[in-house]
Amino acid sequence: MNASQTSDVPTLLVKIFGKDRPGITAGLLDTLAAYSVDVVDIEQVVTRGRIVLCVLVTEPAQGLEGSLRVTVHNWAESMKMQAEIISGIGDNRPRGLGRSLVTVLGHPLTAETAAAIATRITKTGANIDRVFRLAKYPVTAVEFAVSGVETEPLRTALVTDASKLGVDVAVVAAGLHRRAQRLVVMDVDSTLIQDEVIELFAAHAGCEDQVAEVTEAAMRGELDFEESLHARVRLLAGLDASVVDKVRSEVRLTPGARTLVRTLKRLGYQVGVVSGGFTQVTDDLKERLALDFAHANTLEIVDGKLTGRVTGEIVDRPGKARLLRRFAAEAGVPLSQTVAIGDGANDLDMLNAAGLGVAFNAKPVVREAAHTAVSFPFLDTVLYLLGITREEVEAADILDLD
Ligand SMILES: [Mg+2]
Repeated sequence: MNASQTSDVPTLLVKIFGKDRPGITAGLLDTLAAYSVDVVDIEQVVTRGRIVLCVLVTEPAQGLEGSLRVTVHNWAESMKMQAEIISGIGDNRPRGLGRSLVTVLGHPLTAETAAAIATRITKTGANIDRVFRLAKYPVTAVEFAVSGVETEPLRTALVTDASKLGVDVAVVAAGLHRRAQRLVVMDVDSTLIQDEVIELFAAHAGCEDQVAEVTEAAMRGELDFEESLHARVRLLAGLDASVVDKVRSEVRLTPGARTLVRTLKRLGYQVGVVSGGFTQVTDDLKERLALDFAHANTLEIVDGKLTGRVTGEIVDRPGKARLLRRFAAEAGVPLSQTVAIGDGANDLDMLNAAGLGVAFNAKPVVREAAHTAVSFPFLDTVLYLLGITREEVEAADILDLD
């Protein structure tokens, strides 16, 4: 019997609840098999060792429903499970048009917050079709499959002031494209790494405070990036080139950075970085993390000293978006399938150009303009926004150790 044939025929919903152990699913299906019914739908969830198993089956041959009910209840009793059997017609109604995935990251995720999110979803006129926990570490990540409303109004209703609720919320259109996101491009300073590379150089040049001041102003969007870059690099003039190696060793990856890159690579994603910092550091990161793409400014070095100038094409705010497009073209990935991650004002064009722009522990101006925001200091939480579960990440890690 195919799906269209089951739409108006009598069906029985058989629900089992109790302590999970091996053989429950097989036992119930075996019991039902004696009545030659068809499985129309089946769903099983295990939460803290308790199983909820729902099997929707076609009605048994005439006169046998009473017997089926008794047999299932007897089986359940013998297994110390609760059973419920509900008669009805057909299958689930088809899900509404406009299907989205809402990912909520909380640490903790309070019931109050979850209630607020669910209420907002409902108020848009959408329906929550499924709820699924993606991860419990390092944050609690939950995915709601929602239908009945277009993605944009849902995003507006949920993401705009998610920070007020103390959680991060991402809303993306559901569909095959989600499985095909194939390029992730990250900013470097305060995104892939915890540091601002120019400040590491400045510490060696003894001009840390002056440089930090200019960086802050630039990141707030108060200063033109290119001007601020030149101003800061000028302060490094005369520094010995041996400082490059020292700075490379001082760079601290953001927690979760290795997990993020390793997992994405395993899934066949291409991963790149674009930085308003320097190739002297990004080339090293590209090698260490086996990145596919890296582009940054280059500090000019003459006779073993930094000249206080940068060479080549400047990577600034529009430059980062340009590089995202270039990487996407080289990777053969449509722009709509790209993910960009960044924290600063100079990442905004790139975040907006990408299919999914993620503001990572970003300044408010960036957070508000991006598609979604992560406010936890763990880069691997971005995986959850892509629908990848912690379990999948860990399973892949174990495979790698073998
Ligand atoms: Mg940055």
